Amino acid sequence: MISFSKAAGGIVQSEIRIMSIECEKVRGINLAQGICDTPVPEPVIRGAEEAMRAGRNSYVRLDGIAELRQAIARKLERDNHITADPDTEILVSSGSTGAFLSACFALLDPDDEVIVFEPYYGYHVNTLLACGARPVYVTLRPPDWGFSLDELTRAISPRTKAIVINSPGNPSGKVFDRQELESIAELARRHDLFVFTDEIYEYFLYDGREHISIATLPGMAERTITISGFSKTYSITGWRIGYAVCSARWKPALGYFHDLAFICAPSALQVGVARGLEELPESFYREMSSEYATKRRLLCETLREIGMKPYVPQGSYYVLAEAGALPGTNSKQRAMALLQETGVAAVPGEAFFHTNVENTKDGNQEVSNAGAGLLRFCFAKTESDLLNACGRLQRLAVSSSR
Ligand code: PLP
Repeated sequence: MISFSKAAGGIVQSEIRIMSIECEKVRGINLAQGICDTPVPEPVIRGAEEAMRAGRNSYVRLDGIAELRQAIARKLERDNHITADPDTEILVSSGSTGAFLSACFALLDPDDEVIVFEPYYGYHVNTLLACGARPVYVTLRPPDWGFSLDELTRAISPRTKAIVINSPGNPSGKVFDRQELESIAELARRHDLFVFTDEIYEYFLYDGREHISIATLPGMAERTITISGFSKTYSITGWRIGYAVCSARWKPALGYFHDLAFICAPSALQVGVARGLEELPESFYREMSSEYATKRRLLCETLREIGMKPYVPQGSYYVLAEAGALPGTNSKQRAMALLQETGVAAVPGEAFFHTNVENTKDGNQEVSNAGAGLLRFCFAKTESDLLNACGRLQRLAVSSSR
């Protein structure tokens, strides 16, 4: 009989998409999905438009156009202190999602264990599952989302092949500091592991925090796949331009799987991004960070006022907040209650944690998820949308004090 693949057997619709659909139904304000509503920088738009008009609309080399690879190499040297050869060590990808997918297919086998810090970005876990790998979770604890080195060490088994890091993180906003990265690097070297590091929010940093690329630590360049992209920095989530940086030893295999799924990243749009990297001054990145810091303050203050304790993010543009006082027994019900009461959509916290099923003594099963009391809000919105959303959220305080 015809049937689904084993990989498709467990798929569920993403909570983020579900909340976006629910939000549209009530014409609410979507603080669920991480799409930036801010304008695309002028050189990026102009570069892409000129490239399209100049006829640069065909397939290009599978690892991207030379001018973008070279611009990425200069950016890596300047901002990340990573020295990478644009010809042999940089792969332009269809979003950072394409880079992560290619790395998983190129470097992981079914049943390999991969350590993932929790709360996690769902695509990381679902991509690992899609290629048959097994995520092993290590807890990040609020409010600072630190982890226990002991727990991380215990999570490593003979089957462990890689560790996934996301810094600044989605949904926690955690920025891994040098000491934490050094301890992860030490374990990766000792146990001969890959590190997949998703640094897509590298320019979204608050309170003077520093972004450190783990590939720059001793002995890490050869085992690290550094993944990033321009969706967030240039507000071009629909353009699908990202990249992977890795040793020349791994790049051909990543390129092979990327080619298989995407052939290449959109060609004219690569030109736009290259132009942005070349022309935008350093102040662009600094100003963006400070604009987002203002939005972070506005949203966190509002959440605090309405009694939903926010875990103030160190980076990225999401806030996890305590939503246990909203009606419901899980975060999905709480997110729906918030949407109905205020017209503001957030993502149920359960989307970022694995579900634990335990057999009890009386033969029943106990199901738990550490995200049940949490909601994630995104503040990558225009100022007026965010002000409007915060105004609507205030209604909650009014109605609960009635
Ligand atoms: N990585 C993280 C941690 C994200 O939060 C997102 C988007 O929300 C992505 C990757 C997707 O990036 P891209 O648009 O480059 O595929």
